[in-house]
Amino acid sequence: VKYSEEQAKRKELYNQIQETKGNIRVFCRCRPLSKEEISAGSAQVVDFDAAKDGDIGILTGASTRKTFKFDRVYTPKDNQVDVFADALPLVTSVLDGYNVCIFAYGQTGTGKTFTMEGTDQNRGVNYRTLEQLFHIAKERSETFMYNISVSVLEVYNEQIRDLLSTSPTSKRLEIKQSAEGFHHVPGIVEAQVENIKEVWNVLQIGSNSRAVGSNNVNEHSSRSHCMLCIMVKSKNLMTGECTNSKLWLVDLAGSERLAKTDAQGERLKEAQNINKSLSALGDVVYALATKSSHIPYRNSKLTHLLQDSLGGDSKTLMFVQISPSERDISETLSSLNFATRVRGVELGPAKRQV
Ligand code: ADP
Repeated sequence: VKYSEEQAKRKELYNQIQETKGNIRVFCRCRPLSKEEISAGSAQVVDFDAAKDGDIGILTGASTRKTFKFDRVYTPKDNQVDVFADALPLVTSVLDGYNVCIFAYGQTGTGKTFTMEGTDQNRGVNYRTLEQLFHIAKERSETFMYNISVSVLEVYNEQIRDLLSTSPTSKRLEIKQSAEGFHHVPGIVEAQVENIKEVWNVLQIGSNSRAVGSNNVNEHSSRSHCMLCIMVKSKNLMTGECTNSKLWLVDLAGSERLAKTDAQGERLKEAQNINKSLSALGDVVYALATKSSHIPYRNSKLTHLLQDSLGGDSKTLMFVQISPSERDISETLSSLNFATRVRGVELGPAKRQV
């Protein structure tokens, strides 16, 4: 009884939010100036005076500034706990049967991995999410039986790689649609996880295999999308009702434009593929915003994979990550413009996929 009351309340709250704001939230997070930037005397061009209201100002000149509005703005002082607290309601709605997608967008070096993966001392959204899912699942164990599994994928140059796979297979992984209309990648590892310790091991395996086969791990990571998929099967022990839901947690490739003269051969191809998938993501969200009859999910592997969790009544959260430094200002403006376009989305109510 306690659970159904709680669920009814939560649903009512979500419906209210949905009516007023749509299903897409954009949180802007600015990292601190790095030691190098401080010692180089790099100026900080971000103004957080109205951060509490979701406004962020970029000083574009001595007396000019551009202001952007988001659902939340985090200053460099806000920590991982502050950030996760705001993502929590979204994350837990996956246990109520909603599909959810959380992604971090921005130039390389702005904290996408810090926000999603975090560090050993400062764990990020991925770890905290799973920790909470287990916590809530335990609280509800008298009413619900949950089965949680995770997959870790990487999309690099429009190719999907299974980071949990131990077999060095060269088989091309493809996205397929099930009879019920769900999108999945046949043959990938779906690791059943029972507790947070097991999750940590799985995340470590995924993280380690990202490095395999690349000369420069950091460069490789900045040019590929790292995608963690959490699949939740739930069964209501009172009514027998079952739901399947999916939560994607995505650390996107760096959004920076490569200098034209710099990009040749393989680098050029990488840059074009990154550009293609990030703009495909923008296009999908724009098509949802304008209620277009055709949503171009299939224009990139990224959007095709995320299809079940973008649109309909699924919930989306984008972290737009920025640098405070003057030298990054043009990339910062470009990211904030992209995020502003994304934020315009108002999704109509759609049928829930169960
Ligand atoms: P990206 O994934 O966007 O390339 P990283 O997550 O690797 O960027 O961040 C770049 C550096 O900045 C890392 O050393 C990271 O620890 C640090 N960093 C990023 N965001 C923060 C933050 N909010 N607080 C403290 N350090 C941060």
